[in-house]
Amino acid sequence: MQTIDKFNFAGKKAFVRVDFNVPLDENSQITDDTRIRAAMPTLKKILADGGSVIIASHMGRPNKNPDSKYSLKAILPHVSKLLGVNIKFAPDCAGEEAAKMASELKPGEAMMLENLRFYEEEEGKPRGEFATDDEKAAAKKITKENQKKFTAKLASYADCYVNDAFGTAHRAHASTALIANYFDESNKMFGYLMEKEMIAVHKIMTDTARPFTAIMGGSKVSSKIDIIENLLTKVDNLIIAGGMTYTFTKALGGKIGNSLCEDDKLDLALDLLSKAKANNVNIVLAVDAKIADAFSNDANTKFVPVNEIPDGWQGLDIGPKTEKIFAEVIKASKTILWNGPTGVFEFENFTHGSRAVGEAIVEATKKGAFSLVGGGDSVACVNKFGLADGVSYVSTGGGALLEAIEGRVLPGIEAIRGY
Ligand code: AMP
Repeated sequence: MQTIDKFNFAGKKAFVRVDFNVPLDENSQITDDTRIRAAMPTLKKILADGGSVIIASHMGRPNKNPDSKYSLKAILPHVSKLLGVNIKFAPDCAGEEAAKMASELKPGEAMMLENLRFYEEEEGKPRGEFATDDEKAAAKKITKENQKKFTAKLASYADCYVNDAFGTAHRAHASTALIANYFDESNKMFGYLMEKEMIAVHKIMTDTARPFTAIMGGSKVSSKIDIIENLLTKVDNLIIAGGMTYTFTKALGGKIGNSLCEDDKLDLALDLLSKAKANNVNIVLAVDAKIADAFSNDANTKFVPVNEIPDGWQGLDIGPKTEKIFAEVIKASKTILWNGPTGVFEFENFTHGSRAVGEAIVEATKKGAFSLVGGGDSVACVNKFGLADGVSYVSTGGGALLEAIEGRVLPGIEAIRGY
């Protein structure tokens, strides 16, 4: 398989799919540029070799072309600054101008295409309303046909294809997967970020040092079932935290007051607990909670046993006894995966548990554990607490990371690696 390190880009044009889907504020200013920075080593290597880059990304979920709200032009100055070259901008990713700009691109130069998702062909899904299923099926067929032309067009800009968009690797889109078919084995490869993400997932799921502890937080059991089920065949300890706690507590007969609960998932919670037992997995549940008399940072609070929450009160974070139990398990681990906060960390008064978990992970990492933090809110947590440098790896992938942990094949990876 080709690798970015081995490949000499001198005189070559590289189509580089990145994930620059970064958050912008109301003035179109970037509020978190992590994903842009993460792709820089790949882009810089190509230019340093004497190659040129065609940078391609999506941004947001536009449903028409063009849609200025989602224009990548907003991030162009910042990307240029980080890359250290003046990046040219193609106002359309699949129009005549883009093709002309790509054909005129010189070694050492960079251009960026407008938002790929301005075209429905990128995702291969027809947009609009359909009166009948037949109409929808017919539209889908046309979009799929057009997707081939769109993909061929993107591929025609370049001599080689580099996929560095881990955040979008779970999508089988034109620029993330289908385009790879237009390049032979020696001219398609992963970028450095993709490689790092894949190594991190491999270390967690395959090349695992034990004990392996996963901390699953966040709001709902329903959105984490597949991951939890897959983890039950891999981990030694599974710490359940966040809003999910109360569905488990209620299923076990506890009083949870007004805490978040999925009443239709009580049986499932019990089922997961018995599966854990059958697999010899140590499930670690909260024993106490920081409860509040309203869903607000300024609510009155107190600490109570997790299964004795009075009516009118809700658990918004773990309590000190739980923090201690979680920290002990984490500090004795050699592999750690953290997905999801222990409480409503957006409220300052309910960040303590998540911070304690983060700090325990940092301590374990100092002692040689491999720690991976990923999936949206836990990344926001480690950044908020300034702990990102103390963990082994912070993933840029939300959904993609979770699907990889569920054990699914990611189309963006399969398109290059073949499996
Ligand atoms: P997820 O996207 O599933 O990882 O969930 C993250 C969200 O879970 C965050 O916005 C947290 O505020 C929320 N969350 C964590 N703990 C609780 C809780 N005890 N009650 C309500 N929401 C929670």
